[in-house]
Amino acid sequence: EQMIDIRKRNCNPMIMKVTYYKKPVFIHQGYMQWLWDVDGKRYLDLFAGVATVSVGHCHPKVTAATEQQLKKLWHTTNIYVYPPLHEYCEKLASYLPDPLKVIYFTNSGSEANDLAMLMARLHTGNYDIITFRGSYHGGSPQAMGLTSNAIYKYPIANGLGCTTTMCPDVFRGPWGGSHCRDSPVQTTRECSCSHGHCVANEQYIEQLKETLATSVPSRIAAFFGEPIQGVGGSVQYPKNYLKEAYKLVREKGGICIADEVQTGFGRTGSHFWGFQGHDVVPDMVTMAKGIGNGFPLGAVVTTPEIAASFTKGVHFNTFGGNPVACAVASSVLDAIQEDGTQQISLEVGTYLLTELAKLRDKYEIVGDVRGKGLQIGVEMVKDKVSRAPLSPEGMNEIFEDIKDMGVLIGKGGLYGQTFRIQPPMCITKEDADFFLAIFNQSLYNYMERR
Ligand code: PMP
Repeated sequence: EQMIDIRKRNCNPMIMKVTYYKKPVFIHQGYMQWLWDVDGKRYLDLFAGVATVSVGHCHPKVTAATEQQLKKLWHTTNIYVYPPLHEYCEKLASYLPDPLKVIYFTNSGSEANDLAMLMARLHTGNYDIITFRGSYHGGSPQAMGLTSNAIYKYPIANGLGCTTTMCPDVFRGPWGGSHCRDSPVQTTRECSCSHGHCVANEQYIEQLKETLATSVPSRIAAFFGEPIQGVGGSVQYPKNYLKEAYKLVREKGGICIADEVQTGFGRTGSHFWGFQGHDVVPDMVTMAKGIGNGFPLGAVVTTPEIAASFTKGVHFNTFGGNPVACAVASSVLDAIQEDGTQQISLEVGTYLLTELAKLRDKYEIVGDVRGKGLQIGVEMVKDKVSRAPLSPEGMNEIFEDIKDMGVLIGKGGLYGQTFRIQPPMCITKEDADFFLAIFNQSLYNYMERR
């Protein structure tokens, strides 16, 4: 009670709107894929602090590396040379394909996207930016302009800082958002990358062409896309969409930016970066969240050519790339290698997708199961005929039930109708089974109560 009062009075009370649980969870401690509340109850964490704890809560190797650095040097500005920064830059660059080799550190994904937007405009001399319906690129006034998800977009910010003033031409993307309208049920199954046939692609490419031709004639600075939408509800592009879109955008003089804030660091399983699953190389990649396993860090990685157009002023960020953040992030890369987290994402993710698809076929209210690796969305519907989103009350009931049975998951989608499963990438098949049984039970309970 007392903690909730403090929360409401002193601590970003507005977040309570999206604090999903009727009975909140008071998290006290974490280890790898597990969290404990103040009463000692254990939860399987399948949301990882919004897809952020990449290798595990308090991962022993990352904790040890952090402790070591904390005893040596906490902070110095990056106008000095210090080993953790340069060691980490070199290491991170080795994970990116040519010519993506120049790194700028920030402290968050929003900051990374702000910077990417600025650099794209400086480089191209153009202003307009295309993002997707359902996208989330950040909560800073500028990044909010890129974000299309209405609940995160303040109308006043549109006027003061984003869509109408500072970036008047942020276009809502051509892509349909959280489901493919052509498919028989509310689903992206028929048009997601893994299913060959794609009726949606041509249609969306036509829309992009039209947007480029009519709305942004020769003025496009950048095209921003999450390789798989995160907050938007694990939405995938139609097959070949991104490849064709990159070509069209580049022909118009724009640069292509992959927002890897959620999809990076092996989360999609098959590749280290989400964009690699689309057979494209962006001109700029933004990242945060999983980069530091929960420690604040973000980055923009771009090409030497684009970096060269960013030399007129001085770009300075006090904390970006601070020694502790670099030591943490470096040990995260080591843990990813040593623990084989990308392989875990692939194996456990594929297993979850397969088993969740069975629940989709079993329950009328499970409209779609989609995603890749450990970036999974389960879209809930009233029924498969109407394809209407399941009500917020219905979503909350199931959500609360799952939590009470000991698993934490996330929510997303344009209507908050998609459950999100984006756990620390150290979960096991047994954890997956634990969750599947609980999810099945909660769906059964919901149907029984109806
Ligand atoms: N891009 C994406 C794809 C995200 O999911 C988020 C955060 N949910 C951001 C950017 C913004 O990151 P941050 O909250 O660290 O500013």
